[in-house]
Amino acid sequence: MKIKSLYPLTFFAVLQVVSLVAFSQSEPDVNNLKLKDYRPVSIYKVPQTNVEKAKFAAIDFHSHDYPKSDAEVDEWVKTMDNAGIAKTIILSYSTGKRLDSVIDKYSRYKNRFEVWCGFDYTDNDKPGWEKKAVAELERCYKKGARGVGELGDKGLGEFYSTPTPGWGIHIDDARMKPLIEKCGELHMPISIHVAEDAWMYQKPDSTNDGLMNSSKWQVDLTKKGIIGHDELITTLENAVRNNPKTTFIACHLANTCSDLSVLGRLFDKYPNLYADIAARYGELAPIPRYVHAFIEKYNNRLVYGTDMGPDKEMYHTTFRILETADEHFYEHNQFGYHWPLYGLSLTDATLKKLYSENGKKILSR
Ligand SMILES: [Zn+2]
Repeated sequence: MKIKSLYPLTFFAVLQVVSLVAFSQSEPDVNNLKLKDYRPVSIYKVPQTNVEKAKFAAIDFHSHDYPKSDAEVDEWVKTMDNAGIAKTIILSYSTGKRLDSVIDKYSRYKNRFEVWCGFDYTDNDKPGWEKKAVAELERCYKKGARGVGELGDKGLGEFYSTPTPGWGIHIDDARMKPLIEKCGELHMPISIHVAEDAWMYQKPDSTNDGLMNSSKWQVDLTKKGIIGHDELITTLENAVRNNPKTTFIACHLANTCSDLSVLGRLFDKYPNLYADIAARYGELAPIPRYVHAFIEKYNNRLVYGTDMGPDKEMYHTTFRILETADEHFYEHNQFGYHWPLYGLSLTDATLKKLYSENGKKILSR
């Protein structure tokens, strides 16, 4: 009897202690709250749309070799089926044996994946390097690579390439010309990442609009030999202008999200330039009316891309941002920013072009 009557009391006391501890842990002093820990939950009772499948079958122009096994490739294909992703471009940025192994990995799904290669910068300090690099490009093409990417230059040269980075070599370097021309000849588009968005060049201080991302991806302009954002855009423009028979895809809207007029000017001048919207949803969604107008205007030149892993939630987030008019929502798991997001509510005609029609044009060789 005694024990029985004591038991609920003891249980209640333990509960109280547990809830006190939990309370003190989850309620930090607001004066000590850090921006990186700020995870607001939207309070608005406004429509929330869960979009699990792209409205029109999509080609993802910007993904990477994420799966570690055949089973993970199978899993990815299932996720793509459910999300309405017809095809994924794997930007392997590699050459040689590494490229061959990536192509072999996806060979069971030839109509669902395309693997693109890199450039081989091995021995680029020696004369005659370009010839060897062109020969390797042709070998990659024969093995099955149908495009080049992701080239990547954040100011110090083409450093994404595996196994050998092209430090100090920018896309408009004269030595790149034979490679770029060969790409045109073989109808291999070049997917290239230049610079970073403007936040990453500003000081990561209390005035930085995108502080958390900016501190993570900060570009250090004091590094020896580094060139800045606008100079990098110029290297891209030079290469696009000087190689009109080669198709270029500027990754992440050429990292001009804070001033899309820069990309608009390039689109106006160069018909061989496209851009993917990969991994810039967080940057586009805070200014939905401006971005809606931009994408509608240039809907012949933009392609869908992700660059954020193979999870289904990631795809859903991109569809929600492109297709819906949802307001003031957060995706803390996907994006490093602390700001709320808004759907772009693109028109069906534009969604069709963005998801697949422009891509089909690029891939029809
Ligand atoms: Zn990428």
